[in-house]
Amino acid sequence: MKPVITQHIRAIHDYPKAGIVFRDITPLLADGPAFQQTIDHLVERYREAGITKVVGIEARGFIFATALAYALGIGFVPLRKPGKLPGKTLQQKYQLEYGDDALELHADALTATDKVLIIDDLLATGGTVLAGVALVEQAAAQLHECAFIITLNDLPGVQRLNDAAIPYYTLCEF
Ligand code: IMP
Repeated sequence: MKPVITQHIRAIHDYPKAGIVFRDITPLLADGPAFQQTIDHLVERYREAGITKVVGIEARGFIFATALAYALGIGFVPLRKPGKLPGKTLQQKYQLEYGDDALELHADALTATDKVLIIDDLLATGGTVLAGVALVEQAAAQLHECAFIITLNDLPGVQRLNDAAIPYYTLCEF
């Protein structure tokens, strides 16, 4: 059963700009039992899935992805903003409300024998995670699923993942 974590997610109004309600995971991280339940639940879900790498999206995705990778005893692979990874990288651009951004993956971080789980803290428009999925595809690895702590149902990410037939899992929804 999913742990109930909504009470540990704080709504911050007008951040980062007027009209936006930012969902803040720091109270969840600061609560030891709640954070532990969150990771333990993901461990139960993915323990027998045959995943070989947990891929985390910068920056908040790293927190959950590294804890899960450690608990599963498998590797963690970061997806980072451009210019942050020191080695040769694959890059995928994606659209923001105003302008573009991109994610990078070390070119040798995944292979065709890898089965990966992508983790981020939150799904909103889906642009970020779809860039992550595209990088996993560029690396010829197999995607098992994408996992989020929070999904925002009034934004198009859920529909975009459904349309692309990308499996995903979320711990809570707003
Ligand atoms: P998307 O690309 O529009 O789906 O946005 C998801 C990305 O933006 C994730 O990497 C999140 O960390 C970040 N993000 C967007 N909105 C929020 C929020 O309300 N709280 C925390 N992170 C957010």
